[in-house]
This record gives sequence, C-alpha cells and structure tokens, in this order.
Amino acid sequence: MHVPAAGAAFQLAQKQFPDPGPGQVRIRVHACGVCHSDSLTKLGIWPGIQFPRVPGHEVAGVLDAVGPDVAVFKAGQRVGLGWHGGHCNYCVACRRGDFMQCETALVSGISFDGGYADYVVAPANAIALMPDDLSDVDAAPLLCAGITTYNALRNSGARAGDTVVILGIGGLGHLAVQYAARSGCRTVAVARGQDKALLAKQLGAHIYIDTTTQDPAKELQKLGGAAVILSTITSAKALEWALDGLAPAGKLLVVGAPEDGPIVVKPFPLILGRRTVLGWPAGTGMDCEDTLNMSALTGVKPMIETYPLEKAEDAYNRMMSGKARFRVVLAIGK
Ligand SMILES: [Zn+2]
Ligand SMILES: [Zn+2]
Repeated sequence: MHVPAAGAAFQLAQKQFPDPGPGQVRIRVHACGVCHSDSLTKLGIWPGIQFPRVPGHEVAGVLDAVGPDVAVFKAGQRVGLGWHGGHCNYCVACRRGDFMQCETALVSGISFDGGYADYVVAPANAIALMPDDLSDVDAAPLLCAGITTYNALRNSGARAGDTVVILGIGGLGHLAVQYAARSGCRTVAVARGQDKALLAKQLGAHIYIDTTTQDPAKELQKLGGAAVILSTITSAKALEWALDGLAPAGKLLVVGAPEDGPIVVKPFPLILGRRTVLGWPAGTGMDCEDTLNMSALTGVKPMIETYPLEKAEDAYNRMMSGKARFRVVLAIGK
C-alpha cells in the first residue's frame, strides 16, 4: 500500500520485490505498526522524500532471503525492523560506534519502502532478531514506540528503586509504564483525568497523579522528587511544571515532540537543582533486539487495534485521530 504523492490516499500497488543485494536482506512482512511518524511519509513532510513511497517502520516478519555477503542472518529467522534503517559504518559517527547519528543514516519507510507491504528489502545492519515467544502483531509496536521508551529509560541513569515518572498514557506511555515498573523503578504515571488511573495501575504504575485535580510537582516533591520524568506528551505547555517535580540532578527526558511550540525551561530549578533536559531518538537494530528480548522476558505487551493491509487508509486515519487504544497494527499476509 503505497502513497503515490504527498498528501494522497494510500493505493494498492503490485510490484516485484528484488532479491537482496550486498548488505541487504528481504523480509516477508507479517505485521507493521502504524506510527504518527508515518505522517512524515504520507504528507511528504520529510525533506527530500521521493514518491511513490511505502511507509512503515515497525516491521515484524521473517527473513526470506539474505544478500550474498550477509553472514550473520539466515532465511527463516524471525526479525524486526524499526525506524533506524541502516548506517554507513564509515562516517565519523559510525567510526565512534554511534550509529544513530550516522551522517547518511537511512529511515525505514522514508529512505526506502517500508512495512505497509508484503515484503521489505532493507540493510542487514538495521535488523533485529525476534524471540519466539512474541507474536508479530505484538512485536511491531515495540520496534518504535517500545524501543523509544525502553532505550531512553535504560540510558537515563535511573536505577531500580528510583522514582520514575511517565508523563502521558498513550501509545508510548502505556509501554513506558510497563518498562519502568518491570525495571524495578517506583513508577508514577501522570495524565489528565481519572479515566486512565485504573489502566495505569494495571500496567504496573505504583502511583497515579491526575493533573486536572492534583499539582503534579507538589505530589512528586512529597515523594522526594523524580529521578527521571519521561515525557511522551505533545504539549509543551503541559510540561512547564516538570522541572519542579524532579529531585536534585533529576532529568526531564523528552521523547514526545510538542506540537504547540518550544519547551520552556525555567532557569532557577534548572540551575539550582543541577537538573537536565534531554531527548532520545529510538535506537539501532541491536537496541530493537534488546527491546524485544526485554519485552518477552518481562511480559511487556502493547495494547493494539489490528487492521488488514488493504485497510491501510482506515488504519492510518484511526491512528491520526488519536482515539486508538493504543497502537494500530496492520496484520499482513496471514
Ligand atoms: Zn514511529
Ligand atoms: Zn555512518
């Protein structure tokens, strides 16, 4: 299901998928998550994107062919492919091992055709191996929403027993709560209203704070302040209290991009409390693999709504409506 031109509706296209070349693999796709970032493809927002283009960077499936020089992977292995669609190995960032910052990094579903399809041909160095006890439709959202929150949290410095706040209980947040709780953190879910309180507790949150009736900064200070506040929300305005909720040297870790303007950072809590504001992009194929393994090990699962591939337009519109609980997944070829 490709996008023929920027802003156009999805179109069913028939095409021949080539054999993988050197350094490539071909994946038989079984499921692909529908992510808000797919709008970068659908609407043609990504600079230089070419059409027609197949979106999809939460790809779960099985290898059906590997390139002639790809020694580590074999046809028949279950694999995943996330946002990071491969790196060059030779630029300065790659030579330092910082593959996410590769100067010519590819993005799945943007630089090359992604997972809204029966097959994907992708660079082998972007691939994650998938554990047996994870289904394709459950694995798919973990390859973007999952890895983004898990990889951000595990690199945040938060340790077991620390107070970690998950701000927003949606596509990213409902996974982040599970990862934080299963990593042994005292997990605080923060959202608007009471309707997500029970769900947050079921996902593993120890404490729920409702920002419509409680002052989150004050409540967090009663707990000694948060070591980390992971923000998955898209409102900069709703982030203004966050630094006041952190413990000294605490971190505001941003993985959701605000749509209402820049994030305002108040200087005094920042300076006097030695606090940090930082961001985190998803991660490499190996980070995806770690995320899948951690999820299988500890039982982290996304809440999903599935659609057949042919209904990509409906699936995309459902995701964009913000009403999906919580991730939309295309089930493909089954
Ligand atoms: Zn994504
Ligand atoms: Zn590079």
